[in-house]
Amino acid sequence: MQNKKIGVIGLGMMGVPMANNLLQANFQVKGFDINPQAKEKFNTKSNFEWLNNPQEIAKSCQVIILILPDSHIIDQLLWGSNEDGIASHFQKDTLVIDMSSSKPTNSKINAERLQNLGFGFIDAPVSGGVKRAIDGSLAIMIGGVEKHIQPVMPIFQALGKTIVHVGKAGAGHAVKALNNYVSAAGLLAVSEALVAAEKFGINPHLANQVFNASSGKNNTTEVKVESFMLSETFNSGFAIALMRKDIQTAKDFIHEMQSHGSFAKLCFEEWESAEKSLPKGADHTAMFAYIKDKI
Ligand code: NAD
Repeated sequence: MQNKKIGVIGLGMMGVPMANNLLQANFQVKGFDINPQAKEKFNTKSNFEWLNNPQEIAKSCQVIILILPDSHIIDQLLWGSNEDGIASHFQKDTLVIDMSSSKPTNSKINAERLQNLGFGFIDAPVSGGVKRAIDGSLAIMIGGVEKHIQPVMPIFQALGKTIVHVGKAGAGHAVKALNNYVSAAGLLAVSEALVAAEKFGINPHLANQVFNASSGKNNTTEVKVESFMLSETFNSGFAIALMRKDIQTAKDFIHEMQSHGSFAKLCFEEWESAEKSLPKGADHTAMFAYIKDKI
């Protein structure tokens, strides 16, 4: 596996540290991003080759990781507007690993279309943010079939700590969106709670200390409140636009499954209006500032 060239398309907040961890694990990596400045992040790295377009990645790598913003971009990249996407340049037995947070239904279709052409597809989105992308301890939730997953386990082991095969193609993306919905609901609730506590004259640091020792504890109270929210740095590295996209995916998925989803709808509306009122490019932890300024 280590001799195989891995293509990585999308060298942003997550793609850069993930590619670095693949290099660290002695994989040969070929990378591409539409932002040419991404190349500079790898200037000093041996075993890394920057390619000037995604077609070159398709022609030279049998394993291709996509870590891109959304399903629209993924579908456009794979298929183009007229079957002229990178899939038309794939080598025999190419495997696409979509590690982005994409739409489960699109991933299911991509898996079927690729299979019909003799290629493989795994959805393997990640959780843990930039920090855990850097230290190689991401949670990875995988959708797809064993025959595709087993041979590339060394890739996942280089990137993550908790690797769970959750089901067929699209299942990884479904679990990812649902996870982020749960996480977003927690962050929104914590923001509302801390702002109200502060208005009553309670020190929010103490309130959060109590949450962390009580049943209100969640990922926001443990990881985000002190570092990004009360500190007002709002720089976790995960944009609010991406969080809004994930909640939208979860809300639509719940609807498609004909499950009850009134709270997902409400949660989505709140995040959508926060994204609209915050500056472009705002971090998702700035939800706290939005709630604070709302009244
Ligand atoms: P990002 O915006 O920092 O990076 C995305 C990169 O993709 C950018 O460098 C952009 O230039 C590039 N890109 C866009 N369109 C492209 C195209 N057509 N061809 C090649 N490159 C293209 O986003 P990110 O934070 O790295 O997130 C990537 C994915 O991972 C998203 O789906 C996101 O939801 C998910 N994710 C992010 C985090 C996080 O904490 N940032 C955590 C878990 C999952």
